[in-house]
Amino acid sequence: MDLTLSDEQQAVRRMTAEFTDREILPHAAAWDRAEQVDLRIVKKLADLGLFGVTIPEEHGGSGGDHLTYCLVLEELGRGDSSVRGIVSVSLGLVAKTILRRGTASQRSHWLPRLCSGEDLACFALTEPDTGSDAGNLATRATRVDGGWRIDGAKMFITNGTWASVALVFARTGGPGPKGVSAFLVPMPSEGLEVTEIHGKLGLRGQATAMLSFDDVFVPAANLLGEEGEGFKIAMAALAKGRMSLAAGCVGIIQGCLDAATGYATQREQFGKKIASFQLVQQLLADIAVEADAARLLTWRVADLIDRGQPFATESSTAKLYASEAAVRAANAALQVFGGYGYIDEYPVGKYLRDARVTTVYEGTSQIQKLIIGRALTGVSAFA
Ligand SMILES: Cc1cc2nc3c(=O)[nH]c(=O)nc-3n(C[C@H](O)[C@H](O)[C@H](O)COP(=O)(O)OP(=O)(O)OC[C@H]3O[C@@H](n4cnc5c(N)ncnc54)[C@H](O)[C@@H]3O)c2cc1C
Repeated sequence: MDLTLSDEQQAVRRMTAEFTDREILPHAAAWDRAEQVDLRIVKKLADLGLFGVTIPEEHGGSGGDHLTYCLVLEELGRGDSSVRGIVSVSLGLVAKTILRRGTASQRSHWLPRLCSGEDLACFALTEPDTGSDAGNLATRATRVDGGWRIDGAKMFITNGTWASVALVFARTGGPGPKGVSAFLVPMPSEGLEVTEIHGKLGLRGQATAMLSFDDVFVPAANLLGEEGEGFKIAMAALAKGRMSLAAGCVGIIQGCLDAATGYATQREQFGKKIASFQLVQQLLADIAVEADAARLLTWRVADLIDRGQPFATESSTAKLYASEAAVRAANAALQVFGGYGYIDEYPVGKYLRDARVTTVYEGTSQIQKLIIGRALTGVSAFA
């Protein structure tokens, strides 16, 4: 793998970094306190083409490869994970899935809107009683004249109150993963109630919602892929999603490194900069190593995808490492800041709160270990 970034990749990285420094970082603490990012950020992101990275221009996207996508998500993650999540769900989990599995009319209807930021999408897999065991989900879609009627509930849905379309996974057949199908459900829809979940530890600027489906009608044309393929579609989306989450975590780690290094070279104790103390340098060095390791694992996944190679286990590896490393890095950065790290005048406390969920969503760390263990041994611990 050639680690040299092309001129185009460097230009997109620079553009996103400048945008993050100008439009996101100065507001992140206020959005966090208000539990709401300013949604005008969506149009600004879209104007830069950031909702269309990897989507071909013929569908309204801005093209680019998966390494470019990782560079974008790293910069957004450095700025605010709540903003990064808007893009990684709407573009990464939903638009890319429509591109891969949608019919011509599903693509032409949704992709230009999602790439232009006119509409946002959400990905609705988790339910109140099924998280890690997603193949056991209970939301049911029943075939009726002209389409399907959906009943059930989805939990913890990112972008839930902002989205115009939900990619919903529902049971159309018997038990287990093979009985699940995927649907594109326009929002709002009659019978679909959306309730925002408040009081999150982190990602406080982001809309996380519960979706309740009471006899919601979906036309037959809104089935995504074939009947019974829903679980496979969800897992394929998450395999790429884990790379984008890992990239967001790299951004958190880099943000922690920048903040902690800056603080250590200013703050004085015992008549010296705290950066001159070896134990403080050790904290900084540990964060720097985590940043490099997480970034290289993430870039490896992008490289495999762009070369058409299998990448799912490597994506789980990157997600597992980068998410756990982001928590460690944010914790170490807070230590460098001492008491000032504990108040939200500085960014490191928010990095720690935002990092914490990354070892939980898109598959917990335990689930990533089982995926890696299955690849190593050929034995599934899920069965
Ligand atoms: C802020 C936020 C945003 C989210 N956004 C979305 C979204 O947009 N769309 C969506 O569909 N979901 C979303 N989720 C849901 C998320 O993916 C789930 O929370 C996650 O998959 C874990 O499921 P659970 O919370 O039900 O935990 P559980 O599955 O109940 O797990 C609880 C614990 O048991 C462990 N465990 C479970 N099974 C095993 C096993 N076989 N072996 C070992 N340990 C095991 C887990 O690792 C965990 O430690 C979001 C969650 C949060 C908090």
